Amino acid sequence: MAPTVALRLTNVVKRFGNFTALHGIDLDIQDGEFLTIVGPSGSGKTTMVRLLVGMDEPSEGTIHLNGELINDVPANKRPTCMVFQSLALFPHRTVGQNIEFPLKIRGVSAQERRERAHELLALLHLPADYYGKNVMQCSGGERQRVALARALAFDPEILFFDEPLSALDYRLRKTLEKELKDLHRRTGKTFVYITHSLEEAMVMSDRIAIMKEGRIAQLGTADEIYSAPRTRFVAEFMGEVNLFPVTSAPDGALAARDGSLAIAGTAPGLAPGSRATLMIRPEFIRFLGAGDTADCVAEGTVRDEFALGSRLQYEVDLADGQTVTVEKLREDRFPGAIGDSVRLGWDLDHVHFIPEAEES
Ligand code: ATP
Repeated sequence: MAPTVALRLTNVVKRFGNFTALHGIDLDIQDGEFLTIVGPSGSGKTTMVRLLVGMDEPSEGTIHLNGELINDVPANKRPTCMVFQSLALFPHRTVGQNIEFPLKIRGVSAQERRERAHELLALLHLPADYYGKNVMQCSGGERQRVALARALAFDPEILFFDEPLSALDYRLRKTLEKELKDLHRRTGKTFVYITHSLEEAMVMSDRIAIMKEGRIAQLGTADEIYSAPRTRFVAEFMGEVNLFPVTSAPDGALAARDGSLAIAGTAPGLAPGSRATLMIRPEFIRFLGAGDTADCVAEGTVRDEFALGSRLQYEVDLADGQTVTVEKLREDRFPGAIGDSVRLGWDLDHVHFIPEAEES
């Protein structure tokens, strides 16, 4: 069965005075998916989510929830709920009181509230005796779970998250990323998450929307966007990358425009006579030994080696001044030394081409 659309944005524009923060966004959020909106500061993530939860109205365009137009439906009339970084828990109240709040305002009986609160404590892996504990006595991570339990107590169709983990330390963030992903699976609800952190987006999401200057630069799974970015911006945003301007000759043969590479072969999908950027991720580049061959070969000098936990990263300077980043697992460590002359090689199977028109 085709997935159903929970939220549909059609040509959504948001202006603040003369400034346009969102330029005609079209986006379908599928029922039950985990969609992350990621992008640099000021790219329009918060503006978009404020429109989706009903904290603000679009200047133009439409927002439909389950097929109904909701442009001017206020936040408290939507079946959605927002979890903020600041959490907005009631201090000096117990964990139980915080979780039960949404049920209380809906007139749910004390007995039923208590039962539901205990179910939610269990769902969020919090001990049952936390029910009577003051939230201020909980750790940062526990408070985050209480905020999530409270959001779920609203029983929203869609949960929105605005950088909920950014104030936490690295280890706790990693744990909660996995818990959130698991919670998404167990609840089956639609999660829309905004973050600066690409890593967070990649770990948790079914799909990622990358924002740039009020537009969606690309929408897709982490894998799709990582291996086939549409623009240079997306390629660089998704992690370390090496980019080379190339031209395909009328016979399809490829040549690096700055002479930095020797390329043997043609580029499938690249029209003869066109210009493009050749993209190769660092993990696909090999240090070639004497007699080794590859479709693309560049010569340079190893300038530096960095240890990145399980991997090693090398910076190799080419003669034209360009630096190539190479990544290896520890067991494939470069056998030579810093300052050595090397030949780097990779195959066209691992290359992606960004058309000239999309380079920015
Ligand atoms: P960050 O990651 O820093 O939170 P963001 O991607 O969420 O950034 P937004 O907060 O959506 O970005 O802001 C997008 C642009 O819109 C920014 O240039 C911001 O200055 C502008 N903007 C947002 N809200 C308003 C407002 N109420 N009035 C005027 N300009 C605004």
